[in-house]
Amino acid sequence: MTRVALVTGGTRGIGAAIAKALAAEGHKVAATYAGNDEKAAAFTAETGIKTYKWNVADYAACTAGIAQIAEDLGPVDILVNNAGITRDAPFHKMTPEQWHECIDTNLNGVFNMTHNVWGSMRERKFGRIVTISSINGQKGQFAQANYAATKAGDIGFTKALAQEGARAGITVNVVAPGYINTEMMATIPEKVMNEVILPQIPVGRLGEPEEMARAVVFLASDDAGFVTGSTISANGGQYMS
Ligand code: NDP
Repeated sequence: MTRVALVTGGTRGIGAAIAKALAAEGHKVAATYAGNDEKAAAFTAETGIKTYKWNVADYAACTAGIAQIAEDLGPVDILVNNAGITRDAPFHKMTPEQWHECIDTNLNGVFNMTHNVWGSMRERKFGRIVTISSINGQKGQFAQANYAATKAGDIGFTKALAQEGARAGITVNVVAPGYINTEMMATIPEKVMNEVILPQIPVGRLGEPEEMARAVVFLASDDAGFVTGSTISANGGQYMS
């Protein structure tokens, strides 16, 4: 069945792969982004997927953006909370700004987006919420107290909300990626990649954005109605929970 899907941060990286995969399933897809107009324009030129710009940390902007998408494509059936940032620093050097920026985008953004689609999903008795967490929310990571807190928060949020959505036909799940082959990874020196990162991953390679997208496509499908409150760990065996 064709559904309306909204992917936050859907113009590049993992989000772009998710948006493309959902479109390939026949869904009507909207991809949002924060400010990189050039990337968004290139993404639309390549895929034909419409993009929308707003900051997920801004509740009123989420309300307005989601209303616009409902007008353009129809009410949102599938929400993928993918937009996320890092603001790394060892805790003794972490500034309140670094802490708050991470919380505002990665955790408040998830609230702002989900809260704005929830009522309509409840009324229509169908919904799929998938939030992209991280292995670092499951196991912690040096210099990421802020990021790990948000990504662990996604998992608690999901388990609570899954209970509330269950009788309304809404499933709420998490995909927790490990190291994924995105632009961010390309900046890591080859020596660090080969001697530090890859040895930690039992399958011996980075994950691909498309592999995260396949997990999301499954969780977003009509067939996945019995899977809720779950975390799919997609990390090449690096952390088994
Ligand atoms: P990228 O940095 O490649 O892309 C981030 C996307 O999110 C962009 O479209 C960006 O928009 C958008 N975005 C960022 N902040 C906001 C905001 N405040 N409001 C709206 N949109 C925003 O991300 P990745 O593909 O690397 O990561 C995607 C998700 O996966 C994140 O949640 C990340 O934490 C998680 N993850 C990534 C891993 C990895 O190895 N890459 C590993 C584990 C988890 P713009 O282009 O305009 O800046």
